[in-house]
Amino acid sequence: MQTYRNIVDGTLVESASSYEIFNPANGQSLGLAPESNEQGVDKAVQSAVLAQKKWAQRSDHERRDITRKIAQILQDNSEYLAELITREQGKPLSGPGSRFEMQACVGWTQVPASLELPPEVVYEDNERKDTLHRVPLGVVAAIAPWNWPLMIAIWQIIPAIRMGNAVVLKPSEYTPIATLEMVRLINQALPAGVLNTVTGDGSIGSKLTRHPDINKIMFTGSEATGRRIIEASARNLSPITLELGGNDAAVVMPGTNIKKIANDLFWGAFLNMGQTCACIKRLYVHEDDYETVMTELSAIASQIKIGDGMDESVLIGPLQNKMQFEKVRELVADAKTGGCDVREFGEVPTQGYFLPITLVGDIKDGQRLVDKEQFGPALPIIRYRELEDAIGSANGLEAGLGASLWSDNPADASELAIQLEAGTVWINQHGAIHPMVPFGGNKASGYGVEFGIEGLKAVTQCRVVSIKK
Ligand code: NDP
Repeated sequence: MQTYRNIVDGTLVESASSYEIFNPANGQSLGLAPESNEQGVDKAVQSAVLAQKKWAQRSDHERRDITRKIAQILQDNSEYLAELITREQGKPLSGPGSRFEMQACVGWTQVPASLELPPEVVYEDNERKDTLHRVPLGVVAAIAPWNWPLMIAIWQIIPAIRMGNAVVLKPSEYTPIATLEMVRLINQALPAGVLNTVTGDGSIGSKLTRHPDINKIMFTGSEATGRRIIEASARNLSPITLELGGNDAAVVMPGTNIKKIANDLFWGAFLNMGQTCACIKRLYVHEDDYETVMTELSAIASQIKIGDGMDESVLIGPLQNKMQFEKVRELVADAKTGGCDVREFGEVPTQGYFLPITLVGDIKDGQRLVDKEQFGPALPIIRYRELEDAIGSANGLEAGLGASLWSDNPADASELAIQLEAGTVWINQHGAIHPMVPFGGNKASGYGVEFGIEGLKAVTQCRVVSIKK
């Protein structure tokens, strides 16, 4: 059985203990993942502290070149890593699955490599000149989740490294293997110690984020853990970028051509089996369009093959872990008990954490499947009569990551968009993130943004040089 290892100071290190990782599609063992302990966290952080000082002294040009090399490494190894993602995380190779995740890793590395944050003269008169420099923060703790394990790790790692920080990354305990392999490969292009890993459960994440030498925390995960991380950050006054998931609403405006948007609505909700932070998790449709929406989405759902994602014809895989599987199953059972119209599609394998594609009609705000972030392949479809009520419902929860409006008239939708309380409001698309466009939450979905120039700024601190003339 293959044993995977953490990388610290450019070297694969032995760990005192390890645990087995299983394929969520069939329960087969994938190998042993290392388990870090407190000393392991200390060593990884110390290695980052030492490496960061030299890394920050490299020219911006050199760091850009190295970031480009990393993009090439990801491209060259994308098929190998995509297969590991499918086996470990469950998303299929095909469609918007693990190959798609790897292409995102490449793109989200190329773009920071192409961007610059040069010093900026922010004020000048006859007496003074003030120049704002963006300097690295130091050591970044990156805590990644299991839903898009490599892509989200890349979002955290690459801007940080590009701007002269060093990183200690902790992948989710559910999906460490593909991430460790990616980090091992990326390290070929980096000086030793610039990118290190630790592994284990939340207690290791907690030790890392509380470590006195951490200068910035990048976190994507649940709101509950996000709150614990805020407390941990108080110790060092570390700034945090927090992406805490959402419960995104999509509102289809009255009279919209449903046939035209049905496929995008479907994948806006069922991407990665619904295990995506900015997925449609509540769909509001006008009462006159409700039957058409149910019919069109049912027609798409009934065509989709569910199964082990290594099969190229499969587009929907298993849920990643038992916790998530049970959580979604229980929310759907609750909707059934509550008298909702639960329609299930797809032939579901008996082994593995598979659930059918589930459309849930005759459901209302206040029912748990609507109000909780279900993070699975079950979409509640809620009727509305007045558009303003649908907007009120969309804004009615604490989450505010994404939202979308769907209309044949994008100009009308744009006017309404600003009323939706979310970090991004998409029109006629959902979850359409881009490496140049800032992405982050409003309200309880977190704070800070990633991507583009704003994302680079978030891994730096301002240093002003002020000259008296
Ligand atoms: P968590 O928030 O617990 O996990 C996210 C990451 O944080 C993991 O690497 C986890 O480690 C780590 N972690 C856990 N506790 C701590 C801590 N005290 N300090 C530092 N790091 C910690 O999410 P879950 O996996 O429990 O999923 C629960 C729910 O969260 C899901 O059902 C979903 O609703 C939501 N979620 C949202 C995501 C998003 O993209 N925004 C991604 C994943 C989940 P480990 O896994 O090793 O315990």
